[in-house]
Order: sequence, then structure tokens, then C-alpha cells
Amino acid sequence: MADKDIFYDNDSDLTHLDGKTIAILGYGSQGHAHALNLKDSGCEVVVGLRPDSSSRAEAEGEGLEVLDVAEAASRGDVVMILLPDEKQAEVWESEIRDGIAPENLLMFAHGFSILFGQIEPPAEVDVGMVAPKGPGHLVRRQFTEGRGVPCLMAVEQDASGNARDMVLAYAKGIGGTRAGVIATTFKDECETDLFGEQSVLCGGVTELVRAGFETLVEAGYDPRLAYFECLHELKLIVDLMYEGGIQGMRHSISNTAEYGDMTRGKRVIGDETRAAMRQILADIQSGEFAREWIAENRAGAESFQRMREEAEGRQVERVGADLRKMMPWIEGDGA
Ligand code: NAD
Ligand code: MG
Repeated sequence: MADKDIFYDNDSDLTHLDGKTIAILGYGSQGHAHALNLKDSGCEVVVGLRPDSSSRAEAEGEGLEVLDVAEAASRGDVVMILLPDEKQAEVWESEIRDGIAPENLLMFAHGFSILFGQIEPPAEVDVGMVAPKGPGHLVRRQFTEGRGVPCLMAVEQDASGNARDMVLAYAKGIGGTRAGVIATTFKDECETDLFGEQSVLCGGVTELVRAGFETLVEAGYDPRLAYFECLHELKLIVDLMYEGGIQGMRHSISNTAEYGDMTRGKRVIGDETRAAMRQILADIQSGEFAREWIAENRAGAESFQRMREEAEGRQVERVGADLRKMMPWIEGDGA
């Protein structure tokens, strides 16, 4: 099995979790999905939440046992940290670390805390990752429909000698091995994840959309038309790419759109952008981005909040909020 790099149901065995208690810390997007899927897979699950957490009633309503974070961490043989990444270090120090016994399995759904040294688990502890490649609601819904969402898995420390089997069993418990679980490392998962969100999915796309919208508006066009052409219709294109890749999308658009795409796209995303992407990746690899983000949080995240407020006030947001009211089929239409 050591040379394989993708695992399915037949490669994983839930009995490795027999007699073990799995503590899920946090009940947000990922937390609720992991807790419920593991429980439905027959695992012993406890959920760790803050005493005043609004998710307590919800988790208890689903028949889950809810404990304070420290109690859950100490009860768990497997402890999955599904707290926001920027909060994990603080909660680790104050409530998790003391509950982690030798040969417990400490787990993550993202490599940030380990890769950037925010959490330094003792050497006698197993450290693993199962990172679903989809939001929690999809992880839950696919599971209840008998399917699963593909996951990445990694083992950072194998003190017990069983870490890989345990991590794979966990991945099976949340339904991941039904779809396929790809073996990677904390480093590769985290660096590619950060790069994707910064340069393409979030940072790249938002600036592309704003630049297109503002170019049309500055040229005197109706902002409502600019919004439809540069933001609203993005969904159509992304859905086509999601289903069939770039060529599948191109197959569905008009020939005029396809010709414009192939002859103009490289002018927008040229050498300068590719150089910027390489620098963004270098800042991730060197730890520069992580240092900046950790320092920002330590300083109270004031500039983060300021940037959020600035973004709210943009014309593209105001125009969009009005236009979305004309399209009641759009959920959460800015109301
Ligand atoms: P989330 O924000 O949806 O949920 C976080 C949970 O932690 C909430 O229940 C919140 O109440 C709780 N929480 C926050 N601060 C706390 C504290 N101080 N003490 C105790 N509980 C606290 O987070 P998420 O999106 O589920 O992310 C969890 C992990 O999963 C992260 O490592 C993230 O990178 C990873 N991940 C997320 C996704 C995704 O699509 N959301 C996908 C893959 C991996
Ligand atoms: Mg424990």
C-alpha cells in the first residue's frame, strides 16, 4: 500500500477506529459534517465547543454529545481540530494540548497550523490530515446520498505506527474514500491551497471582476450592464468549467466568444501577472504570508477589518445588491 497515492473504500478499514473516541472540535462548515458522518458510520463521536456556543443546541439536537473543548480534547483518542485556522494556536495552548496523550491522533483539515509552526505537537503523538475538497454542507449531503467528496490525506507524524491506517479510516468515516482520497503532505496541501485562493479563486478573480467592471463604467457604460457582463455571468462560465474543464466551457460558448477568449485572454493575464503569481507562491513557501497573517491577527486584525469595510462601499457591490433583487432565484441575494 505504501506506493499507492489514491485510496478507496477497499483500501481503508473502519475497524481501526473501534473502541476509539473521536473528538471533533468546532461545529462549523467542516465540523458538523465530520461529526455527523462519523456518527452515521458507527464511530464514537464527541463534539468540543465553547460553553456559550450557539451550535451547542444544534449538535445536541442531532444526538451528539457536546463537551467543552478541553474535555473533548482529553476524551478523544482522535482529536480533529476544525476551528478557524487563525484561532487554532491559541485554543491549542489553552484548551487542547493538555488533553492530547501519547499515541493519540491529532488531526487537521488544513495544513496551516502545522506547516507554519503554530502548533507543535509532542513527538509521541500521531499527526494527520483529512482535507475534503469541498465545503462541509457538500461533505454532509453527499454522504447522506451514499456518495462522498474527494479528500486529501497526509501523515506528518507516525508515533504509533498506525497513523496512516487511522487517518484512512477517518477518511472512510466521513465518506471520502467513496470518492477517492489522494495522499499528499501538509506542506503541499497548504501551499497549493493558499496559492489557489490568493492568486486565482479569491484574489485573482475579485480583482479581475472589479477591473473589468470599472473599465466599462469609466468608459461611460451603464454600471448595471457592466455588472451583468463582468460579474453575474461569471457563474455560467465557472459552472461550465467545473463540469468540463476549460475546453468543455469553450465548447458551449459562441464561436465569437471563443475566438475573443483565445486571442485576448493572454493580454489580460500576461507575463507581469505570471511573475506576480510566482512571487505570491514564493511568499507562501518562505512563510512570509503566514507571518504577515499571524501578526495581523495578533494585532487585533484592524487592517483586515478596515479592508473589509472599504470593500463593502464599492460601486460594484451597490449595483449588484440592487440587481440581485430582480433575480429572486439567487439565494442570499444581499438582503
Ligand atoms: P468554520 O468557521 O465554519 O467553523 C469553525 C468552528 O469553530 C465554529 O463552530 C466556531 O464556533 C468554532 N470556534 C471558533 N472559535 C472557537 C474557539 N475559540 N473555541 C472553540 N470553538 C471555536 O470553519 P471551517 O470552514 O469548518 O474550517 C475548519 C477547518 O477546516 C479549517 O482548518 C479549514 O481550513 C478547514 N477546511 C475548510 C473547508 C471549507 O470549505 N470550509 C474545506 C477544507 C478544509
Ligand atoms: Mg486525548
